Amino acid sequence: MTYSFLRLAAEALRGQTGWTPAWRNPEPKPDYDVLVVGGGGHGLATAYYLAREHGITNVAVLEKGWIGSGNAGRQHR
Ligand SMILES: Cc1cc2nc3c(=O)[nH]c(=O)nc-3n(C[C@H](O)[C@H](O)[C@H](O)COP(=O)(O)OP(=O)(O)OC[C@H]3O[C@@H](n4cnc5c(N)ncnc54)[C@H](O)[C@@H]3O)c2cc1C
Repeated sequence: MTYSFLRLAAEALRGQTGWTPAWRNPEPKPDYDVLVVGGGGHGLATAYYLAREHGITNVAVLEKGWIGSGNAGRQHR
């Protein structure tokens, strides 16, 4: 999927029905080096910086809703 101003405008007109998920939905692996509970800003940043700064990439972020569904996603409602 590509994102552009035109795409945003088209989706606004047709009720946001044409988007597809932007993330994978993989089966969980048998083990991880780190489990992060919560896919809000802090959880995602933790996973990102573990990978970028420490090379720890075998990380799972467990989210009970959808990514950013906590306070991170409430800020502009
Ligand atoms: C109305 C409002 C306006 C705000 N405005 C601003 C602002 O202008 N500027 C600013 O800097 N901050 C603002 N904040 C604060 C900011 O949103 C929070 O500080 C920030 O989002 C916290 O991030 P977080 O990752 O800790 O929590 P959250 O974003 O709440 O993420 C926690 C995640 O954990 C998940 N979770 C919880 N329990 C479990 C579980 N047992 N298993 C799996 N997943 C779980 C939740 O579903 C959620 O997605 C605002 C907050 C609110 C409510």
